[in-house]
Amino acid sequence: MWSRAPGPSRRLPRRPEVTTDNPSRTPESTAFRTAIDVVRGVEPRIADAIGAEIEDQRASLKLIASENYASPAVLLAMGNWFSDKYAEGTIGRRFYAGCRNVDTVEAIAAEHARELFGAQHAYVQPHSGIDANLVAFWAVLAQRVELPALERAGVRQVNDLSEEDWERLRKALGDQRMLGMSLDAGGHLTHGFRPNISGKMFHQRSYGTDPETGLLDYDAVRAAAREFRPLILIAGYSAYPRRVNFRIMREIADEVGATLMVDMAHFAGLVAGKVLTGDFDPVPHAQIVTTTTHKSLRGPRGGMVLCDDSLADQVDRGCPMVLGGPLPHVMAAKAVALAEARQPAFQDYAQRVVDNAQSLADGLTRRGARLVTGGTDNHLVLLDVSGYGLTGRQAEGALLDAGIVTNRNAIPRDPNGAWYTSGIRLGTPALTTRGLTADGFDEVAELIDTVLSRTTPGTAKSGKPSKATYVLAEGVAKEVADRSADLLAKHPLYPQVDLG
Ligand SMILES: *Cc1c(COP(=O)(O)O)cnc(C)c1O
Repeated sequence: MWSRAPGPSRRLPRRPEVTTDNPSRTPESTAFRTAIDVVRGVEPRIADAIGAEIEDQRASLKLIASENYASPAVLLAMGNWFSDKYAEGTIGRRFYAGCRNVDTVEAIAAEHARELFGAQHAYVQPHSGIDANLVAFWAVLAQRVELPALERAGVRQVNDLSEEDWERLRKALGDQRMLGMSLDAGGHLTHGFRPNISGKMFHQRSYGTDPETGLLDYDAVRAAAREFRPLILIAGYSAYPRRVNFRIMREIADEVGATLMVDMAHFAGLVAGKVLTGDFDPVPHAQIVTTTTHKSLRGPRGGMVLCDDSLADQVDRGCPMVLGGPLPHVMAAKAVALAEARQPAFQDYAQRVVDNAQSLADGLTRRGARLVTGGTDNHLVLLDVSGYGLTGRQAEGALLDAGIVTNRNAIPRDPNGAWYTSGIRLGTPALTTRGLTADGFDEVAELIDTVLSRTTPGTAKSGKPSKATYVLAEGVAKEVADRSADLLAKHPLYPQVDLG
């Protein structure tokens, strides 16, 4: 559950746990009920949808590795008049007047981020992980391509360049190289792949994992970097179940003159919670680190950039370079979430996330399932469902029928491609917030194995086995859904919120 002590100081007395003996009388119940009532006065269907959403979330066994449950304090910090304020620019240097309180909020969020992660600089404006990556890309491009061009031309800003020099600079900005993890090894679309704008901005090459072990092959990364000589070496993933050694990645980047950027969107909570330390903590090794704030970090939906002082000025230009006006209400919620993450209870949470992933992996392996890389040492497990004779799409559908929410995901060299896939990605951050323990995750493994062992592919119109449709044996969906409801009932979600 969420830690409740206020602020970052460990010396402050902890507030007493709010009793949930009578949840209808907690401040959280009053706050959310009142908010929904006020909304109901204008558009009752939206009030109903908000109420229905908490019920759906309470009822589902959520194993989506990128999702979590933010605390009531984080959620409530977002619903207020900060939403009304325009605040383009950065702390103390805004293009709009009247930003005193936004400055306060942004400065506190940035301070928490710097202290929590040990970063020289933090930029808390990005609206999402994708936006954080764009800010980081353009900061590196500005520092390494634009500034040298201005210096060569003897001018201070782009507006002072001649038409000819400007055209040359525009071409140079679009002619840079990025080396990142391949999608099927667990990399992310925003790391230079064609369907994303990053792939249109950069020449991209990717590194993969060892075909035998499924593990990141640093020698192969080094060889690719030596040959390709990228401007940016990007590390980070959304579906790789192991730790990455960022000390080695930085050595490789330095050797070829690349800037090391780490996208820790998925595992920021494990860094914040001091589970990933030393060589596995990206912050001391990378020049620039990006993240989301809503995944394992358990904050509001949003993004963030951490960097060393050399890149700070360029990063602070994120708005209006690539971002629209900041969302001050979300920055307020980021500050609250980061304050929570600085509590000792968050370190305990992060450790339990990893222990629970271990238990889930062991539970699946013991029941005969095959895992990519054979296990996990972070918050996620990548299950290869081809052993059950299914595609990822079929497995995802059958599990959902039984109330288990996951997502399909390609596995390395996936024979079924990125749409049908052969994998299911499972993550423990959300259910760990609900309080599930290692034993609970062993039961989750059993439920997953039960569903998948009793699912068979459907038949396509051609008469061949379908990659999309499936048949789940009679009664299994109900049996598993009942057992999952029993498990969830032991770990109520938002126990202090009763909407009456
Ligand atoms: C989730 C994710 C993103 C994108 O985050 P959004 O907030 O959805 O934009 C970027 N990079 C990685 C590695 C991610 O896992």
